[in-house]
Amino acid sequence: MDRFEAFTAENRGRKPADLGTELERLAGQCACPDCPTYNDCSEGAGERLYCLIGRSFGCMTENLGCACAGCPVHRDLDLKFTEFCSNGPEAARRYERTLS
Ligand code: SF4
Ligand code: SF4
Repeated sequence: MDRFEAFTAENRGRKPADLGTELERLAGQCACPDCPTYNDCSEGAGERLYCLIGRSFGCMTENLGCACAGCPVHRDLDLKFTEFCSNGPEAARRYERTLS
């Protein structure tokens, strides 16, 4: 079990309020606001943490690069993918990978 799998398993046992607190903590470390692809739309919508929450609700118009690889959340959770805002969250992409 890698760190993302352990984190996901741990979350299943968390109360909703505790999970919210944890996601808020991680959102504070998210490097998306420093990424060139992140724009006024995503900022205005308060989007963050695409790797866990899910892709952007239509804000991403062009891919200008991705800062995920240098993000502490990416490192600490041992994430395998990047560009979550456009391509979807880590859990879904790990699942999709098992189908191919
Ligand atoms: S890995 Fe990417 S989407 Fe996830 S918190 Fe870091 S910068 Fe944000
Ligand atoms: S997920 Fe990657 S590409 Fe998208 S805004 Fe965050 S750092 Fe940039």
